[in-house]
Amino acid sequence: MALRFASLGSGSSGNGLVVEVANTRVMMDCGFTLADTKERLARVGLTPRDLTAIVVTHEHDDHMGGVARLAKRYAIPVYLTRGSAQWLPEDFPAVLVRLIDSHTAIAIGDLSVEPFPVPHDAREPVQFAFSDGDARLGVVTDLGCITQHVVDKLSGCRALVIECNHDIDMLMAGPYPPSLKQRVASRFGHLDNSAARHLVECLDRSRLRHLIAAHLSQQNNTPALARRALATAACCEDDWIGVAGQADGFAWRDA
Ligand SMILES: [Zn+2]
Ligand SMILES: [Zn+2]
Repeated sequence: MALRFASLGSGSSGNGLVVEVANTRVMMDCGFTLADTKERLARVGLTPRDLTAIVVTHEHDDHMGGVARLAKRYAIPVYLTRGSAQWLPEDFPAVLVRLIDSHTAIAIGDLSVEPFPVPHDAREPVQFAFSDGDARLGVVTDLGCITQHVVDKLSGCRALVIECNHDIDMLMAGPYPPSLKQRVASRFGHLDNSAARHLVECLDRSRLRHLIAAHLSQQNNTPALARRALATAACCEDDWIGVAGQADGFAWRDA
């Protein structure tokens, strides 16, 4: 069984990633409207009915804003921590809720899904690693700072999707109000390019075949800067690094 994955888009205006093994397809986060989600799924050859489950990282709108409507309309089970579940609308069907523990791996069809807690300014945020028993995909967006636990979870992955939120100089010189600058750059905010570089440098990269920058700020970063940071860490050419764009995400990749 092969694991493949595609991004429907990534950034502060909405996130969504699909992971597939055989007939199991799990969508990680949905920050898009229903119509937009359908369009973005169609781009990778899917419809909502192809989704086995949705897994949620945290309650921020760019990750959870589209989850309830999509799940309810198509009766898709939603896996999330108790802290995130508090943010589901009151009329959300309890039968579709699957509470997860942020330290316990679960099986969804043919896919092993491993949540792990991360420092971020949300109630009970997690990120995920996915495995088919051989290939492992690790995803971290919305990470305030690097923890040893995150390093352990992302080590040995075949594919990595890593937040490169901002360039610290662009953020500080940019138009955000001081309070927002501080929030973004804090230990419970978002990873900047140099922290992302440091994270990748800390990892066991012996099996790494895909390295993708995600959740880039359109205001405070550029794809070229993010690529440069990750390429430096991985000792590779800049153009080997993928970028998950806000508008277009990225096409299927075989892990
Ligand atoms: Zn986010
Ligand atoms: Zn967030």
